[in-house]
Amino acid sequence: MSRVEIQDGYFGQFGGSFVPPELQEVLDYLTAQFEQYKDDPEFNAEYRYYLKEYVGRENPLTFAQNLTKKLGGAKIYLKREDLNHTGAHKINNVIGQILMAKRMGAKRVIAETGAGQHGVATATACAMFDMDCTIYMGAEDIRRQALNVFRMELLGAKVVSVAKGQGRLKDAVDEAFADLVENYKHTFYLLGSAVGPHPFPTIVKHFQAIISEESKRQILEKEGRLPDAVIACAGGGSNAIGAFAHYIDEPGVRLIGVEPDQAAALTKGVPAVLHGFKCLVLLDENGNPQPTFSIAAGLDYPGIGPEHSYLKESGRAEYYTITNEEVLEAFQVLSKTEGIIPALESSHAVAYALKLAPTLTSDQILIVNLSGRGDKDVEQVYSMLKK
Ligand SMILES: *Cc1c(COP(=O)(O)O)cnc(C)c1O
Repeated sequence: MSRVEIQDGYFGQFGGSFVPPELQEVLDYLTAQFEQYKDDPEFNAEYRYYLKEYVGRENPLTFAQNLTKKLGGAKIYLKREDLNHTGAHKINNVIGQILMAKRMGAKRVIAETGAGQHGVATATACAMFDMDCTIYMGAEDIRRQALNVFRMELLGAKVVSVAKGQGRLKDAVDEAFADLVENYKHTFYLLGSAVGPHPFPTIVKHFQAIISEESKRQILEKEGRLPDAVIACAGGGSNAIGAFAHYIDEPGVRLIGVEPDQAAALTKGVPAVLHGFKCLVLLDENGNPQPTFSIAAGLDYPGIGPEHSYLKESGRAEYYTITNEEVLEAFQVLSKTEGIIPALESSHAVAYALKLAPTLTSDQILIVNLSGRGDKDVEQVYSMLKK
């Protein structure tokens, strides 16, 4: 795992914690608890138990033989996070954090959600672990994601509409932190991506690192060597940092993150503080976070995790952008060639692989992290392609 992290959750100049003192106290307590649990054999045995029995891990590293043949270059392997319970990688982190919550004596879990995917994963785990669950969601997002709101309610969660500000993800995050400060004694804030003030990016990476722990073992079994590159989409950066984690100290493995061209924090952002931590952020002329537009709701965020900001600045990882047209094309190509419908978010990573693989030789290997399945996106793609 990465050795770049220094004190207080800094990755080079990025990360840290820029929050009011009353919230800092709660975060310091969370940091101490995490330090205690992360190497606790009993905790880890329980985490592994639920990953296996509830999430369905380990998931396969599938050789995409038809796609490889069609492109005529590097061998493409797909890490199948789409096969997890709830259909994406988010559950890995949710299980880890809810086990922390349980041990810390919390009776209540709160979370933020934008498009609703993290809210659904959190509500799922709360049902399973019998926790009271409150999900903060912007009023505007609730209107656009009615079905996910119903899913969360079905799972027993209370969805709180946040009308403040623009009624979007940022406003939901603010409300969740306000709730945490008031109720920290019995409430756990289960944050959904590798973003936010320390220790959240470190916690989320820790629980998502299972992706590359498995893929490394699997590729060594199948090919007897490491891949030439690992490719993942980056919204907040959790599936990508999990897919990269065990390769960061392997200089022969290229790490490639892929963003929407209209939410390209890593490609076009500048260092700034956003939502309590420092990262690369897309700013407008007045220094405010820019509105982003991605067809993949899970990638619609003007910032990016602090470790990715550092990996970009230090040159260890590369980041590229993909257009909406390329995403739609990749969504269809993977469906037709491999019989796997990828999430629109994951289709960004697939789209970059479609470009890169033909430029490489047949003895080279790519791992594409398939962060989620595309069932949730079929209706949206239908209306884009058929209307
Ligand atoms: C939420 C989501 C993402 C984006 O989140 P990251 O934290 O960047 O991983 C990507 N893919 C899928 C399927 C998602 O649900």
